[in-house]
Amino acid sequence: MPCGPSISVDGDLPKATRAQMRGVTVEAVMAVRDLTGLDVVFRSGSSERGEVLSTPDQRINQPDEHTLEIHWVDHRNTWLTPDELGAATVWHALSTIGASIGSARIQLSSRIFDQFDHGQFDEPSRQLSVLHELAHIFGVGHSTDPNSFMYPSLETVAWITPADRAALALAGSRPC
Ligand SMILES: [Zn+2]
Repeated sequence: MPCGPSISVDGDLPKATRAQMRGVTVEAVMAVRDLTGLDVVFRSGSSERGEVLSTPDQRINQPDEHTLEIHWVDHRNTWLTPDELGAATVWHALSTIGASIGSARIQLSSRIFDQFDHGQFDEPSRQLSVLHELAHIFGVGHSTDPNSFMYPSLETVAWITPADRAALALAGSRPC
């Protein structure tokens, strides 16, 4: 499992926005840590002093083993379609004990900041949008429940349902 997240932000975005993006991401990662029980520890980019700016290479290179790269991208610079707020990609490593997730990348569009307010995890919010992509990385797929934050789109109601909690707890049974 890619349990070592690192955050990078697009240098074209205003400094204050970049700081907010880091803050929202840290909150979402902490929520994943609580929900899965996994020992998720930041590798880099979680504070202003340690700010990491995105590079074009990050868009094509596979992240290092066990690393989860989280990129905030100015929506004008991204290859996401205008409707897409985020995307999650995992690279699987095949071993004698079966396939496991080796490394991963999440791309988050600045549109998340245009579309949602700063909020909590029991309402459509920036935090909940980031949590949705993180949950994919840890092996949780989409929900058919329109109330779930894992529904394919965030509607006016979205929260972490009991079924979502169970899925995340199960995801946490696979070691980092
Ligand atoms: Zn999704």
